[in-house]
Order: sequence, then structure tokens, then C-alpha cells
Amino acid sequence: MASHDFDVLIVGSGLAGLSAALHLAPTHRVAVITKRALHDGASGWAQGGIAAVLAEGDSFDAHVQDTLVAGAGLCDLAATRFVVEHAPEAIRWLQGLGVPFSQEDGALHLTREGGHGARRIVHAADATGAAVQRTLIDVVRATPGITLFEHHTLVDLITARKLGLPGGQRCLGLYALHEATDEVVTFRAPQTILATGGAGKVYLYTTNPDTATGDGIAAAWRAGCRMANLEFIQFHPTCLYHPHAKSFLITEAVRGEGGRLLLPDGTRFMPQHDARAELAPRDVVARAIDYEMKRHGLDCVHLDISHQSPAFLQAHFPNILARCAELGIDITRQPIPVVPAAHYTCGGVLTDLAGRTDLPGLLAIGETACTGLHGANRLASNSLVECMVYARAAAQAVAQAPRAELSALPPWDDSQVTDADECVVISHNWDELRRFMWDYVGIVRTDKRLERAAHRIALLQGEIHEFYAHFHVTRDLLELRNLVQVAELIVRSAQMRRESRGLHFSRDWPALAAPAAPTILVPPVR
Ligand SMILES: Cc1cc2nc3c(=O)[nH]c(=O)nc-3n(C[C@H](O)[C@H](O)[C@H](O)COP(=O)(O)OP(=O)(O)OC[C@H]3O[C@@H](n4cnc5c(N)ncnc54)[C@H](O)[C@@H]3O)c2cc1C
Repeated sequence: MASHDFDVLIVGSGLAGLSAALHLAPTHRVAVITKRALHDGASGWAQGGIAAVLAEGDSFDAHVQDTLVAGAGLCDLAATRFVVEHAPEAIRWLQGLGVPFSQEDGALHLTREGGHGARRIVHAADATGAAVQRTLIDVVRATPGITLFEHHTLVDLITARKLGLPGGQRCLGLYALHEATDEVVTFRAPQTILATGGAGKVYLYTTNPDTATGDGIAAAWRAGCRMANLEFIQFHPTCLYHPHAKSFLITEAVRGEGGRLLLPDGTRFMPQHDARAELAPRDVVARAIDYEMKRHGLDCVHLDISHQSPAFLQAHFPNILARCAELGIDITRQPIPVVPAAHYTCGGVLTDLAGRTDLPGLLAIGETACTGLHGANRLASNSLVECMVYARAAAQAVAQAPRAELSALPPWDDSQVTDADECVVISHNWDELRRFMWDYVGIVRTDKRLERAAHRIALLQGEIHEFYAHFHVTRDLLELRNLVQVAELIVRSAQMRRESRGLHFSRDWPALAAPAAPTILVPPVR
């Protein structure tokens, strides 16, 4: 059985993981462990940009205030200030690495997005994440001190308690499944950083990539870390609905340019829901679409931008025009079928201002973590910047931590398991989970729906546990096990919140409750 020793293990190769690796590489032997190729993950998909106070007349106070307003009373003020005040330095760092941000008159071009009171979005045209990831990957590949383990999937963290070791609880390393050999490899290090992204795949419709299965959240929970605010899932109102289109976002700019939301018979419905109609905030539009879909039993609604000229659409929305055309939808003449989709996981592993979790030797950064920045609703373009600011802080915390000795770790034991006979159980349970999470734990929740979901999750957990105990692990099985775990945590958090706040809307608890408080889940074994 292969085994590797490092100073730091980083799980995940998105913006959070790669940034941390670059900060640590000069002084530490770093392993980046990632379950697919380096570029797979949400970071490369980000379109809009990165928020930072850089314009004259803008201020840290204004950015903080906009973040607090979006977060509906639940943002942690210290975390918010920390991110906002370090954002300009994070942008300069990316520029130093060579990210080709859009410029105007020799300076960074800043756009404005919903919820921001000033122009403060740094971007690379409409494909910011791709530009950032491409640059980071090139730099990481050329940096000595970083060893890359692609196609290695975290199975579980290894802790002193699990091994029954004396001397206090801490994280000692991890097991990862190597896809090419089907072997579970042991990694040892005194410090591990989880940067595994969000959990959008727990829902039937999502803008997230296939990697977003909440693996880090589930693994940290099993290892004894507290979780925060997992009921707050941000839904993007308009994702392309087509059997052959997975996770294709239709940007809000389409509504900004006059796009109208219609029922299949052509009736416009947004004015009945909000005076701002199609230009209402994301969560209002997503709720209205959800309401109409459930009321009429629809699979999708339509977004019509055909009043604009073909030349305008080609100039403003070339990617959407092309992608829809590939699928036989001519948006110059036809409306676009759309559904809301899970977009961002606001909650996650509870951390401090340096990304430290409850478990000594384990840190969490990026979408996997809950730093308190996003509160009950994320402000647009605040997540990429959070990845970078906390990557640096976590790297500093790792560098300052006393160097711990490596412990002897047992190899993965698969002597009692065989190859699975019925893999259909896994694919069936994936589908079932994502469907009932969408129907019962989606945009509009009720006590009864949450109870139904909790009941089904308990059944699935039993089946998956059986499977995990008796058969060789595969990436699909590991992801399903994690998704069901995260689903349970989302439902439990939603049941604990007896109010409607930010992204959590309950028909049984429609009012705001005072005082505002985060939802903290404490694992049974710590
Ligand atoms: C379509 C879209 C558009 C967006 N636009 C913006 C935007 O304009 N601005 C903004 O600020 N935010 C945006 N976001 C959100 C932002 O992209 C993410 O929050 C951010 O990229 C998360 O970065 P991360 O490094 O935490 O995770 P990711 O980039 O998702 O990386 C996670 C990494 O972990 C790996 N991984 C996961 N599980 C395992 C495992 N078990 N073992 C090993 N490796 C594992 C994955 O393969 C991946 O490499 C957008 C998101 C989407 C989906």
C-alpha cells in the first residue's frame, strides 16, 4: 500500500487550495490532493468576478455594509472586515502572478453587481474564474515544493481518536482513493487543509460542477468538527433546462437587458410577485419561479430575450447564444427554458479567522468553510475573494504552528470487503436523494417537507452504510456517502431555524425572529 509523508496536505485544487499551496511552498513540503484533474471545480466556472475596494470614492466600510445587508443580520463582523480589508492585497497578488484581468485606460476595469453600492468587481471579461485558474495552475506546476496528486479522492481524515492514540485529539493525515490503481493511499502530515468546495450536487438542479459533493464538509463532521449555517443554500434563478445541458448558467444580465420570465403559455408572472418584476433580487426571483413551477406542475419556465436584435445578443451574450444554438434553441426567436438551481453553499465547517477548525491540525478554507462572511445570503463576487484571503491566513497559521511529529498510521484495511454486486443501488440513491432534496428542501420549505426529507435520508444512510461496510470503495460511493451526510446536516439546520431569514424561507415560520443567531451543529463524537 502506498504511503506519503508531507508537511501539509491540501485537499482540493480550486482557488482556495492552489492559493494556499503557493503561499506554503517556499517553506513547506506540500501535497495537493484532488479528485479529478487540477482544473475541475467551481473556481474555473466563476464568471462575474472578484469584489475588492479599489475605486476612488469606494471604502472598506461601504463594502462591509453591503455584505452585512446581503447577509440578513447573520454575517460575522470580524470575518467580514477581515476579508474586505485584505481583498485589495489579494487582487494585487493575483496580478503579480500574471492573471490577465480586464483593463481600461491602463487600470483595472471594475464592474458593478447587484447588492454592491460601488464599482468594485475585478474581472477577466465574463470568464474570470477560468483566467485565474489557468494562471494559478501554470504557476503551481512550475513551483518546486508542491507535489500534485490528481485523481485522488479523499476517503476520510485520520484522527488520533479513531486510532485510539493517547495525547489528545488531532488530525494526523488522510486516506485517498487513487483512481488509476483503485488503491487507497495513506497520506501523513501534521497539518491538513480542506479546500474541497461546496455541495450543490445534493440538489437535482445545480450550477455547480460534478466535484461539488460536500466531501470536505462530511469528512470534517465525521472527524468531530462543528458545522455552521448549512440551511443557507443560494439558488440561482436561471439555469438552462435541457436534458443534454448540465449546469449551464443563464446570467442575470439577460434579465437586466429586458429578458422576461414566462409560463409555457406565454403569460408573464414576475409582476404579480414583486414590483421590481424580473429585476427583483436573486432569492425573490428564484422563489417566484419555484412557486409557479409547483403551482402549475411545470418542469421549467421560460426566459424570453428575443425582443433584442440578433446583433445585440451576439455582442452581449455570445456564449449563451452559442450554447443554446447547439441544443437547437434559437434565442433570437425562442424563449430559453430555465429552472432555478443550487449555486452556493453559504454554510460549512466552522472556522476561526485563520481557517482553523475544531480539530487541531485541520483547517478549512473556501466554499467548504463557514467563516461567517456570508451570513444568511452571499453577496455576489464575495466568494472568490474569501478563498484567497483565508488561503493566506491559513498558510500563516500552518507556518506558525509548532511542528508536530508524524504518527505511525495503519494502511487502509479492505480485507473484509468485496467488489460491489449491485452498483445500481448507488446510481438509484444518487437520483433519489437529489430529487427529494429539490422537492422538499429547496427554495421554499415547510416543516412537513423537511420531516419527509429527514425520514428518507435516514433510510438512505442505512443502505449506504451497509454498502460502505461490505464493498470496495469507489468515487461514486464516496460521493454519495458524503452527499447524504451533508443532506442530513442541511435538513437538520433548516429544522432548527424557526424563522425565515436570507436564503432560508419556511412557509411555517415566515417571520424574522430576534435575535439573529447562527445555526451550529455539534457532532456526536468529538
Ligand atoms: C457557475 C458559477 C459561477 C460563479 N461565479 C462567481 C463569481 O463570479 N464570483 C465569485 O466570487 N464566486 C463565484 N462563484 C462561486 C465560486 O466560484 C466558488 O465559491 C469558489 O470557486 C469555490 O472555490 P473553492 O476553492 O472553495 O472550491 P472549488 O473551486 O470548487 O474547488 C474544490 C476542489 O476540491 C476538489 N475536491 C472535492 N472533493 C474532493 C475529495 N473528496 N478529494 C479530493 N479533492 C476533492 C475538487 O475536485 C476541486 O479541485 C461561482 C460559482 C459557480 C458554480
